[in-house]
Amino acid sequence: MEVIDEIGDIEHSFEERFDYFGNKSSPITIFYPRNDDEVARIVKLCYEKRIPIVPWGAGTSLTGALSGRDHIVIDLSKMNKIIEINEIDWYVRAQAGVILADLQEKVKEKGFFFPPDPASYFMCTVGGAIAESSGGMKGVKYGSFREWVLALKIVLPNGKIVKIGEPLRKNRAGYDLVHLFIGSEGTLGIITEAWLRIVPIPKNSIMTIAAFPRDLEAVGNIILGLRKNKILPELSEYLDYDVIKAMNKHLNANLKETKGGMLLLQIDESDLEAVNKILKDNCEDIMIANEDEAIRLYSLRAQALKAIKSEHENLSFAEDIVVPISKLPEAIKKLEEMRTKYNTKFYLISHIGDGNMHPCIIVDDEKSRLELFEKIARMAIEMGGSISGEHGIGKQKAKLLVEQIRYSNGEEVLEIMYKIKRIIDERQIMNPRKFVELAYNDFWQKA
Ligand SMILES: Cc1cc2nc3c(=O)[nH]c(=O)nc-3n(C[C@H](O)[C@H](O)[C@H](O)COP(=O)(O)OP(=O)(O)OC[C@H]3O[C@@H](n4cnc5c(N)ncnc54)[C@H](O)[C@@H]3O)c2cc1C
Repeated sequence: MEVIDEIGDIEHSFEERFDYFGNKSSPITIFYPRNDDEVARIVKLCYEKRIPIVPWGAGTSLTGALSGRDHIVIDLSKMNKIIEINEIDWYVRAQAGVILADLQEKVKEKGFFFPPDPASYFMCTVGGAIAESSGGMKGVKYGSFREWVLALKIVLPNGKIVKIGEPLRKNRAGYDLVHLFIGSEGTLGIITEAWLRIVPIPKNSIMTIAAFPRDLEAVGNIILGLRKNKILPELSEYLDYDVIKAMNKHLNANLKETKGGMLLLQIDESDLEAVNKILKDNCEDIMIANEDEAIRLYSLRAQALKAIKSEHENLSFAEDIVVPISKLPEAIKKLEEMRTKYNTKFYLISHIGDGNMHPCIIVDDEKSRLELFEKIARMAIEMGGSISGEHGIGKQKAKLLVEQIRYSNGEEVLEIMYKIKRIIDERQIMNPRKFVELAYNDFWQKA
């Protein structure tokens, strides 16, 4: 309460909050700052009084990254200005609370393109997407946020405001702190502004194809076929049969329901002949979409998780594993085996072209669900993949983070990560008991 009295003139409210999967946040209060100085004032006071802070974008985290109690929430939603679109240096400068779809629309009006497009693009904020290093549907060609952030303005945990990086394509001045903050999940400071790289809207002619593979094995064959033929799609998204059924039921999607699900591809027109050949060998049906249908399919794909959640209200887990593309057929086979062994349903949504899969497990019994969740993640680790491609670690995958680092990097690496956290956030007030801190303290130290 002391905090509220001292910061009295900054808008605040009291409420409980829930993230997309229903994880609860019971904060002391929620502040809605409008500029960097207001953020810095709140943070400085919290630093002095050692009050934990959770930065909040749009709350679409899928890993429990916002949950907890007795902290304050700094909600960035009122910091939603696009400050500059630089048409010569090709960057957009925006406040952290800008909704990603708004930013994409504004740069499009000027003839530019900002590719990272998490399927939550119509809800999530620029700051949240940077803090998660979000990927998305166009990630197969353009990568995730990591590849598009040039510079950041940060309020550090002691309340000081710093700018890191420059809006330059090349910059070798010191350690790369920008990339340290990308994907830091609110544990190192608060991003208040970002300079993001933009490129002219591509002029090549893009074809959208909805393909209906014979089965899951055929999906793996298609992706391998594209790679062998050196074809890089703009988009290659997979939705399995059950996802399509849920989308038809809850989104009136009117999509063809075939056993092998649907592969949504966007390719350069010049690759059409080669792609058609690969698809014909593996698909029951192929449909080339016109412009309107292409927009509709893209938007439907973005809502796939929503459709599953409408079918299973208590859905609280979505995997985010990545496997090397060369191991995709093997991973798909193993997923199928697990599905049979556990006699369960999991809906498979996948940014399949970059090996990133989101099986959403539906098992009533919590213990089996957790067991299967960990089994799938371990499969990815053992294949030289990762437990998270884009959703991050949050609370949910801290134990698995330790397992992956042990297996692939060595424990020294977790030590380094934890030391970085302690140096930047010496009082451990930023989004506590999550991510590296949780992994280090609960699952490594106690092991
Ligand atoms: C339907 C749906 C589809 C999704 N699809 C994808 C997808 O395709 N790809 C993908 O990568 N993710 C996806 N996600 C996950 C999620 O949307 C992304 O991680 C998103 O970018 C988070 O943005 P947000 O603004 O909601 O952040 P929040 O959920 O509010 O916060 C996420 C994390 O970032 C921190 N944070 C937020 N703002 C700041 C800030 N300004 N400074 C510092 N830390 C901050 C928070 O403390 C928290 O740890 C999806 C989620 C949903 C609900």
